[in-house]
Amino acid sequence: MSAISTSTPSVSVESIRADFPILNETINGHHLVYFDNAATSQKPMQVMEAMNRYYFHSNSNVHRGAHTLSVRATDCYEGARDTVARLLNAASSREIVFTGGTTDSINLVAYSFSNGLLKAGDEILVSTLEHHSNIIPWQLAAQRCGATVKAIPMDAQGNLLINSYRELLSSNTRLVAVTHVSNTLGTINPVRDIIAIAHEKGIPVLIDAAQSVPHFQIDVQDLDADFVAFSGHKMLGPTGIGVLYAKESWLNQMPPFRGGGGMIQTGSVTIGNTLYNKAPYKFEAGTPNVAGAVGLAAAIDYMNEVGYDFIQQQEEQLLHYALEQLQQLPEVQLAARPEHMASVFSFNVKNAHYSDVATLLDSQGVAVRSGMHCTEPLLSHLQVNGTARVSFAFYNTLEEVDVFIKALQKAIRMLS
Ligand code: PLP
Repeated sequence: MSAISTSTPSVSVESIRADFPILNETINGHHLVYFDNAATSQKPMQVMEAMNRYYFHSNSNVHRGAHTLSVRATDCYEGARDTVARLLNAASSREIVFTGGTTDSINLVAYSFSNGLLKAGDEILVSTLEHHSNIIPWQLAAQRCGATVKAIPMDAQGNLLINSYRELLSSNTRLVAVTHVSNTLGTINPVRDIIAIAHEKGIPVLIDAAQSVPHFQIDVQDLDADFVAFSGHKMLGPTGIGVLYAKESWLNQMPPFRGGGGMIQTGSVTIGNTLYNKAPYKFEAGTPNVAGAVGLAAAIDYMNEVGYDFIQQQEEQLLHYALEQLQQLPEVQLAARPEHMASVFSFNVKNAHYSDVATLLDSQGVAVRSGMHCTEPLLSHLQVNGTARVSFAFYNTLEEVDVFIKALQKAIRMLS
């Protein structure tokens, strides 16, 4: 891809696709159509090259050596932290903790809260739309402290009920943890309002941004979010790296999640006691995933070059086109149609099992996900056992949607 920016009209899906070699794969004799981006995105060559460059020229351990390679590795790692801070418009890079992914980030906050910031009788408020990653860590935390987890209800189309949310907030509520975008229905939650409403009562809010950072710009200061969690691998980066953004004031009062090297104040460790390093290092015990951080920074650079304006425009077009085409197929039932949607949707084919639909699509080269998408409370609410899910990225095309629709029509014929 040549140098492009949001204002450069030369950006094109064709030039972008040339950066993703995997999109040329042949699957079961067909050209791959990859519509499983919510599970994990594909990676451009620039990300893989940045990681290779790191291993070829800078690999060492960070923060611990006087030698040149160690300094280079530290610069790469801390440079990546600065890149993430700029992406989110964090007030400081000290507010960026590198983790293994969204799940790891949420577990960090949940564990830390359960270690002194939660007590018996407290309540944690999640929503019915959550991925299990934003439910189970809170259950574990609640079990440790005698707290309870409650859920904001949703309507049949996957919209959160904001009035019920207001009513659920009480003097016992210690934290609200909600997803920005539902990985199953594509619902875009009104997180700005959710945060403002909680803050009126002095309650902090964690945003699960696993499905939003890959698709639109998040400004943590503008949102006034207390915590934001996301994964590198869903936004063109490698697996095994993720981010927890947290306001510095929270990081300073939270106890560490894991113990080990790097999270201590040098010279303070005795067998009986330890003083901790300052944030974010207090939360990064052990050798970090330096190459992963480098890959994530390269992914962010790539997305910035493409521009969120382009990304959003392209994905909105794909979503509307696909939904329009699906409406023509009477056998297809959308699981829900939320008011504000990102480029993800779930569907079923009447009288067919979602796994069979996905398998028949795969036999024609089209990759979609099927199952419960780690959102069992959501599917229970909708009274479905599972769905097939399509999720777009900005490198997908309208022609690929056509291939998907044709393949789906064939699957429907085979299943009826
Ligand atoms: N939250 C949401 C909304 C997700 O979609 C996912 C993954 O699909 C996660 C959390 C967990 O992400 P990870 O498995 O990268 O930790």
